Amino acid sequence: MKIHEYQACALLTQYGVAAAQGTAAFSAEEAENAAAALGGESFVVKAQVHTGGRGKAGGVKPAHSPEEVGKLAQEMLGRRLITKQTGPEGKTVRALYITRGVSIEKEYYLSFAVDGDGARIVMLASNAGGMEIEEVAAKTPALILRQDIDVTIGLRAYQARRMAQRIGVIKELTESFVSAALGLYRLFIEKDCSLVEINPLAQTGDGRLLALDAKISFDSNAIFRHPDIAAHHDPGEEDERQLQAAQYGLSYIPLDGNIGCLVNGAGLAMATMDILAHFGGRPDNFLDVGGSATQEKITGAFKILLNDSRVRVLLINIFGGIMKCDVIARGIVAAVEEIKLTVPVVARLEGTNAQLGKEILEKSGLDIISAATMEQAARTAVSLCAQEPCGRCV
Ligand code: ADP
Ligand code: MG
Repeated sequence: MKIHEYQACALLTQYGVAAAQGTAAFSAEEAENAAAALGGESFVVKAQVHTGGRGKAGGVKPAHSPEEVGKLAQEMLGRRLITKQTGPEGKTVRALYITRGVSIEKEYYLSFAVDGDGARIVMLASNAGGMEIEEVAAKTPALILRQDIDVTIGLRAYQARRMAQRIGVIKELTESFVSAALGLYRLFIEKDCSLVEINPLAQTGDGRLLALDAKISFDSNAIFRHPDIAAHHDPGEEDERQLQAAQYGLSYIPLDGNIGCLVNGAGLAMATMDILAHFGGRPDNFLDVGGSATQEKITGAFKILLNDSRVRVLLINIFGGIMKCDVIARGIVAAVEEIKLTVPVVARLEGTNAQLGKEILEKSGLDIISAATMEQAARTAVSLCAQEPCGRCV
């Protein structure tokens, strides 16, 4: 689960990490008042959407008076912000963070993340922080330095101090860097985060180290331990498809391809995405209908995929165990009675009651292409997609 920058900055402050002062605003009037209350002549109006790259997309704008803040807020609220990370759909701006403008001497990058491969936590830091960090990571990865952390010991001050030296933090600010790193690490552990990222961690004109942006992701499986964080959940930020899936109790993750996948079992769902990628296709989603899905659940899942304008081909990949193939087939037929099939459907049914499932689909008269194997299903789905290029293919 992700939270907004203004919520993340409040958490930083709670953990003793200095961040730019600011106030959240939900209307132009609130924005102008927030700036007047902050005082001074330099402000930054920041779109609160769960995405990076806002600065480059016009979602971070300087202002020099509360009136100008109000004007910019008026322009930004309700608009769709399209960043490199949002895809062409963008995200609607419903909240703003009004902060004091800070004079920046240097921008550092500092983050803590879970290193899945190494099964540990890693601290990443760079003196090439700021809006170009993705490019830095892609073109000059050596500029991003890492420190593995032994979770049984935790981050030690000397490790943070050495990192400060490695990235060239000036001597006067070394202890500020150490204290920020220790605070962030404590936040990371205590709140069950999967990512805490400060970019930029700015050296300011008046000689301070200040977090000017904060992105925090939490382990959703641990959110029940943190009601204060759960309260920050913003359904408006979630993909419409994900909200619907949650209503049906489905395990669904939206992706950015164009082959809709309906699969049972997380392992098979992963394997389906892999085999599609292998043949040059791109899945629109990860969807595991589970081992004990009812017909209603299947109908719901199928409807989500049919309503998804990105989906060019639908791939059903079922290995019936506890889940019976005829239940899947009935769910699909019921869904198609409500929503017309507008894309080709490829189905591979195997396992318990597979024959019965195939018969139900055949008798329904629906135009469903039956595949004997997973490989054949994936190849067919990818080639059908290729016949209708839509920009979402590789
Ligand atoms: P994003 O990472 O989504 O692009 P940031 O919050 O990092 O958004 O803002 C983009 C850039 O805007 C920062 O790298 C920094 O240079 C500048 N910036 C952000 N907040 C402030 C601020 N309070 N004062 C001055 N400059 C800022
Ligand atoms: Mg940033």
